[in-house]
Amino acid sequence: MNIITNPQQLQELSTQLKKDQVTIGFVPTMGYLHEGHRALLRAAKEQNDIVIMSVFVNPLQFGPKEDLASYPRDFEHDKQVAMEEGVDYLFHPAVEAMYPVQMSVTVKVERRTDCLCGRSRPGHFDGVATVLMKLFHLAQPTNVYFGKKDAQQVAVVDGLIEDFHFPINLVAVNTVREEDGLAKSSRNIRLTPTERQEAGILYKSLSIARGELIKGNVDVEALKNSIIALVEKESSGKVDYFEILTYPQLEPLKERTGKVIIAIAVQFSNARLIDNIIFELSNAPR
Ligand code: AMP
Repeated sequence: MNIITNPQQLQELSTQLKKDQVTIGFVPTMGYLHEGHRALLRAAKEQNDIVIMSVFVNPLQFGPKEDLASYPRDFEHDKQVAMEEGVDYLFHPAVEAMYPVQMSVTVKVERRTDCLCGRSRPGHFDGVATVLMKLFHLAQPTNVYFGKKDAQQVAVVDGLIEDFHFPINLVAVNTVREEDGLAKSSRNIRLTPTERQEAGILYKSLSIARGELIKGNVDVEALKNSIIALVEKESSGKVDYFEILTYPQLEPLKERTGKVIIAIAVQFSNARLIDNIIFELSNAPR
């Protein structure tokens, strides 16, 4: 496995690979790798000649009051995981290499961000889209891999690829969970032992809401309120949002049919956790 820190070197490499008609699978991450990242890497390995992974904690996507400085990092562990999963090139640039000067042009995401994390984290998806614009030009992937755990991110990347004509295929990979249903996340280590016990309620609450919707409970507002009350009763976390929307448009549910996302964000003492489930709602009688 080769480690690349210089953006230009990555671009020269991918340009050569493209000339040689080699397919490139690209997995962008912020490191502190876990089973969720491994699932993305395995899919990329299976579907491409070459796998490139980036490990880069992107300052642009963190708000001033967010956890940029304390975001967990362990590059030695990440290197090990990358080698185990057969990554060919690991891109690990310094912040100064990615942003040598203040940028004169950045990307602003116009749609699919006035809800969920877009509402609670203003500017977050602009930062994500801006770094991906760079990474896509550097890695020039054939296929790019994202986790459904960050479903709004998938929706935004889908728009970025389409709107800017990137010849890239987006692959969304299923969420990898702990035994109690908690979605694997780099931020889970910042839960206290008690909070970790409580955190299973995120996935449980999503499953309950899905069951209610499928049964025909269409009073979405009442359902949302009862689920928020349940989560706050069963845990010490504070619900940031609990939403039921169409997917991938992320608009309020008007009909009892089509693809639906139920999404939750909960703030614990030192970690904000998110999760979601996406499923097809059919209006056939049950
Ligand atoms: P991050 O390092 O948190 O930026 O995540 C990098 C990629 O891994 C993103 O596309 C995430 O959606 C994905 N990812 C994170 N956690 C999981 C998980 N539990 N299951 C599947 N994919 C995940």
